[in-house]
Amino acid sequence: MDILLVGAGLSGAVIGRALAEAGHHCRIIDSRDHIAGNCYTRRDDETGVMMHVYGPHIFHTDDEGVWDYVNRHATFMPYQNRVKTTSQGAVYSLPINLLTINQFFGQVLRPDEARDFIEAKADTSIADPQNFEEQALRFVGRELYEAFFKGYTEKQWGCSPTELPASILKRLPVRFNYDDNYFFHRFQGMPRDGYTAMVESILDHPNIEVALNTDYDPDMKADHVFWSGPLDGYFGYRLGRLGYRTLDFDAFRYDGDYQGCAVMNYGDRQVPYTRITEHKHFSPWESHQGSVCYREVSRAAGPGDIPYYPIRLVEEKSLLAQYVALAEETPGVTFVGRLGTYRYLDMDVTIREALDTAGVFLRDSAQMPTF
Ligand code: FAD
Ligand code: UDP
Repeated sequence: MDILLVGAGLSGAVIGRALAEAGHHCRIIDSRDHIAGNCYTRRDDETGVMMHVYGPHIFHTDDEGVWDYVNRHATFMPYQNRVKTTSQGAVYSLPINLLTINQFFGQVLRPDEARDFIEAKADTSIADPQNFEEQALRFVGRELYEAFFKGYTEKQWGCSPTELPASILKRLPVRFNYDDNYFFHRFQGMPRDGYTAMVESILDHPNIEVALNTDYDPDMKADHVFWSGPLDGYFGYRLGRLGYRTLDFDAFRYDGDYQGCAVMNYGDRQVPYTRITEHKHFSPWESHQGSVCYREVSRAAGPGDIPYYPIRLVEEKSLLAQYVALAEETPGVTFVGRLGTYRYLDMDVTIREALDTAGVFLRDSAQMPTF
């Protein structure tokens, strides 16, 4: 079959590769001038630092199959994300752990003592947290909430944490030990030569043809389309636009080591950016004198902006349901990936879903009668 895949990010590349291996001809198009979608990395011309062009990407998963898959396409170096945050004039360790608690409250608590201490601060009158703020107050209490979450979240999402689902905070653990690894997952790492090289390897198959700087056009002929662009975009935004946050990266170079770590968050509301990333620290096995940093500012995405984070508030959810209904009525098109399904998907989940989607398609198409 002739398959058209819209988007040369992880979704398009992984599905394309699986179908190409099964003998289908895959044309993958992307409107950008590069492959790898938002995972795109490239070296800075001046400093040689590997830059995460659309924001920091750390690979982490518990899915052994996905870990094997990415290791077939890249050499992974050990990397654990250790985030710091600046708040109220001091620097703390994230996610909230025993060091954060002891530093913040000027204590020398052991794990059990810290657990009791935080439980005493928590607002236990909130039995069933209904939003981000309630979730935070219930689990860490007002002081930690205001220092680390309130201002950051207002900047990141552009609304009050009372309007956001509790699930956003559930992504972050609170630890009563000194483990400052941002993620829990068994497998964590960074591709030595960047994500672009990894996606290049996935796309390297004789049945795959890639066309960059190419927008989808409904006249493009194919037996089946996999769409990893925005769900509402496929339908010409005819019911309205699904809400996204976009990011502005204010990039600057520095001679030396600017902040001593890869990610420094800023919890205070009056600091306009949410975080600064210093890219050379994502490749600690390399050594560079020069440095490249991004100050990251979040704002509502307008037409033409890159959609980064789906907002998924109440009004988006009902609009989403209408677009999902339209998608289900669209024969010959499968909607995939972060934008195509309007969900925040980490890379490992994106790859898992892409592999499974390709598997289902191959199984179903094998059962299609041929004449
Ligand atoms: P995308 O990478 O968005 O690819 C979609 C592609 O489709 C794009 O290249 C786009 O140009 C193209 N396209 C869209 N419309 C059209 C059209 N009409 N015609 C042609 N082409 C089109 N995940 C992690 O696991 N760890 C992290 O640390 C992490 N950090 C992140 C940080 C940020 C700031 C963001 C936004 C995401 C992060 N992610 C992270 C998630 C990760 O980026 C996604 O899982 C992954 O990029 C999803 O791949 P995708 O192919 O579905 O989408
Ligand atoms: N968050 C926060 N303070 C921080 C880091 C995160 O309040 O220092 C909140 C914020 O609302 C964010 C959410 O926790 O959107 C999830 O954090 P994560 O680091 O997973 O953000 P992402 O990887 O989605 O940017």
